[in-house]
Amino acid sequence: MEDHFPLAHLAGKHLHLGVCGSIAAYKALDLLRAFRKAEIKVTVSLTEAARRFITPLSFQALGAEQVSSDMFAPACSATATFEHLTPGAEADAFLIAPASATTLARLACGLADNLLAAQSLAWKGPLLLAPAMNPRMWQNVATRDNCATLTRRGHIIISPDCGQVACGEEGEGRLADTRAIFLYSLRAMSKADLSGKKVMLTLGPTREPWDAVRFWSNHSTGRMGASLALAAWLRGAEVHALCGPVYPWLPPQIHIYNTPTAGEMFAQAEKLWPDMDIGVFAAAVADFSPVPLGQGKYKKDAAENALQVSFCSTPDILLTLGRRKKAGQRVIGFAAETDNLEENARRKLAAKNADFIVANCIGAANSGFASPYNTALFLDRAGGREQLASMPKAELAWRIFDWLSRL
Ligand code: C5P
Repeated sequence: MEDHFPLAHLAGKHLHLGVCGSIAAYKALDLLRAFRKAEIKVTVSLTEAARRFITPLSFQALGAEQVSSDMFAPACSATATFEHLTPGAEADAFLIAPASATTLARLACGLADNLLAAQSLAWKGPLLLAPAMNPRMWQNVATRDNCATLTRRGHIIISPDCGQVACGEEGEGRLADTRAIFLYSLRAMSKADLSGKKVMLTLGPTREPWDAVRFWSNHSTGRMGASLALAAWLRGAEVHALCGPVYPWLPPQIHIYNTPTAGEMFAQAEKLWPDMDIGVFAAAVADFSPVPLGQGKYKKDAAENALQVSFCSTPDILLTLGRRKKAGQRVIGFAAETDNLEENARRKLAAKNADFIVANCIGAANSGFASPYNTALFLDRAGGREQLASMPKAELAWRIFDWLSRL
């Protein structure tokens, strides 16, 4: 999985994983590994057909706490007699991946003729269903109707991807990217304190073109911004991410806008901002843009000994939109500094009308551009201040929204 995925905050939660008969059943093992890495307890139910593709031992070996499949197996304890009811009472999320056409049909009808279907019926909340099947089976009206019924009941269908399926046919039916399935599951277990909120983020560097091949930019990778986008989405927000020329993997529900230059990022941000609740300005926007030379490539011979390039200022997105902030809107800015960190960050907090500034030293160990870690100082408009230790950017993103929720 990617390093902007948060792994720490759901440790100790319990996910029940149902696996149906499909060649994609082996991918359930990748999911199990990802959940275990996040220290999430996983119990597993395999249908009879799933057991033809993959064995209970595979799941046990990779850390599943309990693997069941037979409703009528002799019980080894009194609680095991009620295995069809246990996940419904104990788990924090219930995922079926891959979900076969038959299991979708069973669930749509409320049939409980195997252990997994009985457990699904006894489950208290929305099921996460990641179907995988032949594209013609997926398009069949019966499957479409079953999915519509399940969606109407509040269950979450993680739509299959398009591409070549195991039988060689092309179309929609391949199990969704396991990263998306993993993140939907985390979302189901996360606190939903940003539910109903619209969050806009800027992230990455910007790239300011000069001639046909050269540009002015910086070392930002967009990791901090991607972590923030993900944290906001996991906590229930509708997320709009304005990305410089970086392409972090984010779940398809996050709205992505490719805004490679400061001008394009500003134009898109200006359009979205009136409708947003929270603005997070994490991009390392170029402050200057070279005056463009034109369409061609500049030839080095033309420079003789030295090259002179003129620059003009780019729009300051945070400053402009911070000043247009309406009652109820919240703004988080960043300050990456080489000197006088706190003084500069305090100045930016006031000048840009931000509610909260996250400041960090460029060049410090385990911090700043291109590192998966960051060491931040939080300053807010209400006088709050906290110096945080170095931590993964994914973890810091979580703390930033915790802090904002208390402001
Ligand atoms: O003034 P400075 O560039 O150091 O401020 C950094 C903060 O302002 C960051 O949050 C950055 O995303 C934002 N910013 C911006 N547009 C610019 C320059 C900076 O939104 N043109």
